[in-house]
Amino acid sequence: MNQKGNIGITTENIFPVIKKFLYSDHEIFLREIVSNAVDATQKLKTLAMKGEFKGELGDLTVRVSIDKEAGTLTISDRGIGMTAEEIDRYINQIAFSGANDFLEKYKEDAAAIIGHFGLGFYSSFMVADRVDILTHSYREESHGVKWTCDGSPAFEISDCEKEDRGTDIVLHISEDCKEFLEKNKIQELLRKYCRFLPIEIAFGKKTEWKDGKEVDTDKDNIINDPNPLWTKQPSSLKDEDYTKFYRDLYPMSDEPLFWIHLNVDYPFHLTGVLYFPRIKNNIDIHRNKIQLYCNQVFVTDQVENIVPDFLTLLHGVIDSPDIPLNVSRSYLQSDSNVKKISTYITKKVADRLQSIFKSDRKDFESKWEDLKLFIHYGMLSQEDFYEKAKNFSLFTDVKGAHFTYDEYRDLIKAQQTDKDGNLIYLYATDKEEQYTYIEAAEAKGYSVLLLDGQLDTAMVGLLEQKFEKSRFTRVDSDVIDRLIVKEEKKDTVVSEADSRNLSGIFTAELPKIDKAEFHVETAALGEEASPVMITQSEYMRRMKDMSKFQQGMSFYGEMPDMYNLVLNADHKLVKEVLEDMNQNLSEKLQPIENEIKGLEARRDALHAAQKDKKYDELTDDDKEQNKQVDEALAAQEDARKEVWANYGKQNPIVPQLIDLALLQNGLLRGEALSKFIRRSVDLIKG
Ligand code: ADP
Repeated sequence: MNQKGNIGITTENIFPVIKKFLYSDHEIFLREIVSNAVDATQKLKTLAMKGEFKGELGDLTVRVSIDKEAGTLTISDRGIGMTAEEIDRYINQIAFSGANDFLEKYKEDAAAIIGHFGLGFYSSFMVADRVDILTHSYREESHGVKWTCDGSPAFEISDCEKEDRGTDIVLHISEDCKEFLEKNKIQELLRKYCRFLPIEIAFGKKTEWKDGKEVDTDKDNIINDPNPLWTKQPSSLKDEDYTKFYRDLYPMSDEPLFWIHLNVDYPFHLTGVLYFPRIKNNIDIHRNKIQLYCNQVFVTDQVENIVPDFLTLLHGVIDSPDIPLNVSRSYLQSDSNVKKISTYITKKVADRLQSIFKSDRKDFESKWEDLKLFIHYGMLSQEDFYEKAKNFSLFTDVKGAHFTYDEYRDLIKAQQTDKDGNLIYLYATDKEEQYTYIEAAEAKGYSVLLLDGQLDTAMVGLLEQKFEKSRFTRVDSDVIDRLIVKEEKKDTVVSEADSRNLSGIFTAELPKIDKAEFHVETAALGEEASPVMITQSEYMRRMKDMSKFQQGMSFYGEMPDMYNLVLNADHKLVKEVLEDMNQNLSEKLQPIENEIKGLEARRDALHAAQKDKKYDELTDDDKEQNKQVDEALAAQEDARKEVWANYGKQNPIVPQLIDLALLQNGLLRGEALSKFIRRSVDLIKG
């Protein structure tokens, strides 16, 4: 027999097109050819099992070999082989229409083109300028057939000598693809794509060192594990098997925390093993370690469109013939199977965590630190995961005790509900820095959470939406009595004038700190509390925190840190300053205050008289009078500031109190710190 003909495609010459468009992905040819060989072998095994093939199966190893001199790469199997007629049907007639349109549309997406046309075999023309098929069907009375094609639509088919059953695919590697004749390159590709194929694949022989040289042994170099862990029954596996498989996959990683063995038959097929890695921080380095397989053929480790974003942090293997691999990535997300798979995996992951939590809470708690970033990420990004995880996601208090959300709510309800019925969750982000505030809160019988994780700021935002009538407040965001306001209290201990004077004196004495602004106020905090405290509003701090992560919020980021300096009017030292101030300043301040009062009255009268006039209806005289009164008022206010400033300079308690407060918040540095130390020494000397 000798036949010539044209391959049944409508485009003039498909191969240059394949070659050009598929260039970036052209190494997948090896996966395509080897998996065809594996398929052919499995088909034969199935036929033997059904009794349709009665001959000897013999050695079924698929063999990959390089002949550098001949410039060929050969993939041989002992599978079902093909008759001439089958070659014609399966290889020649790759008829399709609208090829040009399709290629144009998907030119960026090599996998799509290959999948769409079943061009698996033809992908060999990406690297070869001639391909021979030497095959011998398992069918009785068949004989060897050779097909050869040089990449044009013309092929040649003839009888040939081939005694053994099965198929050899011989690729005559083209000049610009010589790398595929390199042993290391092929070894690397086989490991990447064929590592878990279900039939043994031999690539040359195992080597050993003899007399300082690496020599071949007579043992096949089997490059794959035909029965990987995920294909086995979970009941037959021990923990060590799972950890060993993990180490094989990720030799550089820490031991995993837990794993899940996935096994579904309906409504889609999916098997696999997913591992929870230890994620301390830096989410990104853990991404994209899941390997996706289709019947044990490696497809990709880019699973971001197949599983929800947070699950890309898991490691392991997913194997499913039902994920449409050969479509464009954007299409994947809308595919209904992919959606089902994604929902299924999310649910499995949540169920697994829930069951570990239930069956061994201690173990779960001990792993919480490594797990929480993953769980938080899931809760933040996936509503259905939140709904499940809220039952096992934990709060940790500053003492290291863990609580579920429900447990914690019950714990703090009695003590931490404010007068409006809001439950106030107090938290610290740094146990050392916020020590004093934590201590004060605990002395009051409050519990303080430690929220120092990478996603805790975002979690606070989420939980405030989810929890009813609840607010999160950092312990240092206000003085203790105002953190959780229990009843309306009036701070009437100091008069308005005293409060203004104190505030003026302390403001004048505050050192200038870069990117920090202070507002000084007076409050009755009790005799035992500190004389002075610094607090930072929850709202502003959160806005600033958020501006670090979110676009369009840089406005907040550039604003200075706003602090409150709160003077405790109940404290002996503050009272002393107040008394001393009243004794020494009254005389100087009184005339200024009187002036100010008079000027304010005059300004108010002027404004009242002008209130019906628009700005451009004001007469020059009106404007002149306004200007005069404003200027006079400003001059008096300046005079008052000077009195305050002078007072602060001669009463060492004022700067000393300020510095103590700054010190407590890590804000006292440089020259100010050194002045403080000198002043302290002087005070001790008395
Ligand atoms: P696909 O594998 O997606 O069907 P291919 O172009 O890779 O597409 O192969 C076309 C057909 O050629 C296969 O379905 C199979 O019937 C046949 N074939 C390819 N390789 C072999 C082989 N090594 N042994 C037997 N048949 C093969």
